[in-house]
Amino acid sequence: MKISAKTKTCLIIGDPVEHSLSPAMHNAGYLALGIDDQFVFLGAKVRVEDVGAAVQSMRKMGIHGLTCTIPHKVEVMKYLDEIDETARKIGAVNTVLNKNGKLIGFNTDWLGVVIPLEKITTLLDKKVLVLGAGGAARAVVFGLLKRGSKVSIFNRTKQKAIDLAKEFNCQEIDLNVESEISNFDIIINTTSVGMKPLENETPISTEFIHGRQIVFDTVYVPFETRFLKEAKKRGAKIINGIEMLLYQGTAQFEIYTGQKAPEEAMKRVLYEKN
Ligand code: NAP
Repeated sequence: MKISAKTKTCLIIGDPVEHSLSPAMHNAGYLALGIDDQFVFLGAKVRVEDVGAAVQSMRKMGIHGLTCTIPHKVEVMKYLDEIDETARKIGAVNTVLNKNGKLIGFNTDWLGVVIPLEKITTLLDKKVLVLGAGGAARAVVFGLLKRGSKVSIFNRTKQKAIDLAKEFNCQEIDLNVESEISNFDIIINTTSVGMKPLENETPISTEFIHGRQIVFDTVYVPFETRFLKEAKKRGAKIINGIEMLLYQGTAQFEIYTGQKAPEEAMKRVLYEKN
């Protein structure tokens, strides 16, 4: 055991939080770099009404990093000293760094989508269909537009897609003609459809998905959703939600430690847990 009273603590807060893979992923990274005496990553269940108190504890106890997951990414913002421009534009914070007593909020979720996509394609001028208009969609839309993609948003509640498209200056689409799905280069599911208890559903029909498309599902439990399985059968390249978890995590690791994240070690632990 290398942990001592000098070790810096990072913490993921959420409700629920017990299922989170972030502690395993970050601790594997510390171990791989031999800095597991300097950093440790834990989890704490925090109710939404207690987020202010949790941030106050971070200040009082000198907690180094605070990772925020559902449902705290928006609520936490009002308790911070500074919010970086990207997180402000996305409207959510998933990473809080305690920099000599100053609490600074960041958002790395958008990198969780952009990095895995850019490993297999360029995003400039690509036609991308984003399914969903919630918190995850905001980070996804931001990242794609930053890279110059042409984004269309489809959502069950149409008005939310219209509002999001207006805010980010992109398109809303109603998909009344399902064959329009075939016109996109990339399709990204940011809805919770495919996750338990909706694991037997797909967010849209897969009938028009084809082999020249990339299909990305942000859902990571199950590891390969029905949507991804069907898209793969139709020849599309697929990317699962674990990849998003990994790359939002590597970016966050770098903010907390100031060191390049050991991607392979962090990836291994995520895939071992699935
Ligand atoms: P959210 O803000 O609550 O948004 C949920 C979205 O899903 C909304 O667009 C909602 O549509 C849609 N939706 C929910 N149930 C639906 C249904 N039965 N049929 C059609 N649409 C439905 O949640 P979020 O924070 O964006 O998270 C969404 C998903 O992203 C989660 O499943 C999570 O697994 C995934 N995620 C993954 C990562 C990762 O690291 N891999 C990170 C963040 C999020 P309405 O507007 O019509 O309600």
